[in-house]
Amino acid sequence: MMIDGKAVAKQVREEVRRDTERLRNDHGVVPGLGVVLVGEDPASRLYVRNKEKACTEAGIRSVEHLLPASVTQHELLDLIERLNQDPAIHGILVQLPLPDSIATDRILEAVSPDKDVDGFHPVNQGLLLSGGTGFRPCTPLGIMRLLDSVGCELKGKTAVVVGRSNIVGKPVALMLLERHATVTLCHSRTADLGAEVGRADVVVAAVGKAHAIRGEWIKPGAVVIDVGINRLPTGKLAGDVEFESARERASWISPVPGGVGPMTICMLLSNTLLSAQRSLE
Ligand code: NDP
Repeated sequence: MMIDGKAVAKQVREEVRRDTERLRNDHGVVPGLGVVLVGEDPASRLYVRNKEKACTEAGIRSVEHLLPASVTQHELLDLIERLNQDPAIHGILVQLPLPDSIATDRILEAVSPDKDVDGFHPVNQGLLLSGGTGFRPCTPLGIMRLLDSVGCELKGKTAVVVGRSNIVGKPVALMLLERHATVTLCHSRTADLGAEVGRADVVVAAVGKAHAIRGEWIKPGAVVIDVGINRLPTGKLAGDVEFESARERASWISPVPGGVGPMTICMLLSNTLLSAQRSLE
């Protein structure tokens, strides 16, 4: 069966909207998200516009900072520091990629870990590793929420994550481990990917290559989450999994588009609300 990412995302947005309203009514606090966008990249502009719209619908105040590509690292660090100090801003999002003239790591490390709603700061990465309560990255959080939405029991199950990036593969592997799955993390040098995937009760594919995961590899009854977003020569979008053949074997499978994609923004909203709630503590 299909995992309906759009429906789950709608539910999360509604929860965030309700809890944001409660926070405002009970404590007079409106969650604020500072969005930093450098340059004119149309895709980045579109992402930022979508994030702003989603914030507004959820009752979150989004404040955009649009900077020219010529901005210096020093000026950008100054802006981050102002946002760190601003009590009306609970989350800071730096839209990537940044221009080559800017050291992305320096900028991400300058964001206060308490406002790092993207979960990219090394402190928050470390807290995830040690099981602490920092901010967790949005796409992996969205994946976990999709698994929960179909009642997927993780304890004792075999989970295979394909892809070991810092923003998807590694953090989602840690979250699955935390929920007591037995986790294997695969990558481009994995000797026999088909055999690894074939043992999995839960497959998370975050490769970035269309159809890298063959349908015939999927163990009957497995739950498959496809994170990949790949543009085919035809212009259509495809995931990392051969959807039609995998679907015949999987008990649940997330489509592309309409699976993990819609979850990422709504987990950003959820993290921003969480940060505003934590600011009361
Ligand atoms: P990266 O390119 O950073 O990582 C890809 C990973 O896949 C690497 O670990 C790489 O291995 C591994 N890999 C590449 N080729 C193979 C192969 N043939 N077999 C096994 N493993 C392989 O990508 P991201 O993690 O950033 O993103 C992955 C996909 O998810 C992309 O399509 C991206 O667009 C999508 N995405 C979607 C999001 C959403 O909101 N839905 C959010 C973020 C990403 P190695 O480390 O050895 O190079």
